[in-house]
Amino acid sequence: MSLMLRIKRVPTVVSNYQKEEAEEGARRAGGCGRNCFNKCCLPGAKLPLYAYKRADSIANEKSLVGLEDSEAPMAFLDSLVLGEWEDRMQRGLFRYDVTACETKVIPGKNGFIAQLNEGRHLKKRPTEFRVDKVLQPFDGNKFNFTKVGQEEVLFQFEASGDGEAQFFPEAPIDAENSPSVVAINVSPIEYGHVLLIPRILDCLPQRIDHESFLLALHMVVEADNPFFRLGYNSLGAFATINHLHFQAYYLAVPFPVEKASTKKTTTLGNSAVKVSELRNYPVRGLVFEGGNTLEDLSNAVSDSCVCLQENNIPYNVLISDCGKRIFLFPQCYAEKQAMGEVRSELLDTQVNPAVWEISGHMVLKRKEDYEGASEENAWRLLAEVSLSEERFQEVKALVFEAISCSLSDADTASQNPSEEDVEDQSAEDMLAMQQGSHTAIIAGTHDCLVIQ
Ligand SMILES: [Zn+2]
Repeated sequence: MSLMLRIKRVPTVVSNYQKEEAEEGARRAGGCGRNCFNKCCLPGAKLPLYAYKRADSIANEKSLVGLEDSEAPMAFLDSLVLGEWEDRMQRGLFRYDVTACETKVIPGKNGFIAQLNEGRHLKKRPTEFRVDKVLQPFDGNKFNFTKVGQEEVLFQFEASGDGEAQFFPEAPIDAENSPSVVAINVSPIEYGHVLLIPRILDCLPQRIDHESFLLALHMVVEADNPFFRLGYNSLGAFATINHLHFQAYYLAVPFPVEKASTKKTTTLGNSAVKVSELRNYPVRGLVFEGGNTLEDLSNAVSDSCVCLQENNIPYNVLISDCGKRIFLFPQCYAEKQAMGEVRSELLDTQVNPAVWEISGHMVLKRKEDYEGASEENAWRLLAEVSLSEERFQEVKALVFEAISCSLSDADTASQNPSEEDVEDQSAEDMLAMQQGSHTAIIAGTHDCLVIQ
């Protein structure tokens, strides 16, 4: 199979003057002077464009049989994300140096990861909206991503029109078509921490829809790197900006939730998406995998998210394992917090249990919490985030109704879990990941074909 990624060169600017003239044109056309990512400043602006190939069958390993002779997974998207991210670090666009933050794996069987991040706490954009409503209308007066500087935006990300992955180093930004973009998070919690903002100029509120979730899943599939995870926080589950966005970053160790065992609950009839429940993990959650197509997997999760949103149940989502496994956690920490039900020693840490913390990467704000971090403390905090068993089963029933699974199948499986329904994440896989963590994050090479 030939290489799928192609670079199409656009005519090079031969003189800096040419470039300045283009920028001047933008200013004359009514730029607001801040070089923002809104219609005022976009005319004439260019950004790299990564167009991914629509894949139909990546989630289902069986359907990949026959493609085994293909090239090794390419690391091009990784290189693009990290190359651009490091460029912004050189340019001093981050609020602090995340690579200087101390990180350790907490001793114990779960392998919780603790990071001391004092800068994020002090310099983060404040949450400015109520936390008791999962769905809230977009408010253009509050901070949103059209207000970021263009220098914070790394590239445009979209489906390729002609079935081949493509890369354009300098593509015009078509404001009328509202591009999806990848931007830096100026308050990073790890190396390569970026935001995926679907159809940025449409100013969508923070709520999952089918198309945006599929875009996010495609990004993880394209990165094809087990260290690259993508997460989502709903409002009420510690999203801090009400403008649709996903977060992603690289961490070269397995997340505790990825190692947790699961109990198979059901397989969805039409799509063959398998749904499991986490076992022996402090936060109760569902795990989605498989499916006849990537879109099947994506739809099963986004249907579930839509159901939770409509029922005003805050939740977090983690996409891991190169897009093969998706974790969904309904949560109630903010609600408990508001009702005064969270113990003061947990509140004192000021840790906001969003998707990363729930997955086992604890971002701690105080040195004493970092130094005293233990598996027991991490577990205790996360247990407060989880729904009770009773409530979780109610919510699961709601979700299953929404994704119209066979109830009889679900009932028999959950009441009577047989040995074969219980799975541990393959020890071999985890070992491979741990060994990988001692090497560079990107293992592959740049496989791209340049079309002159
Ligand atoms: Zn502007």
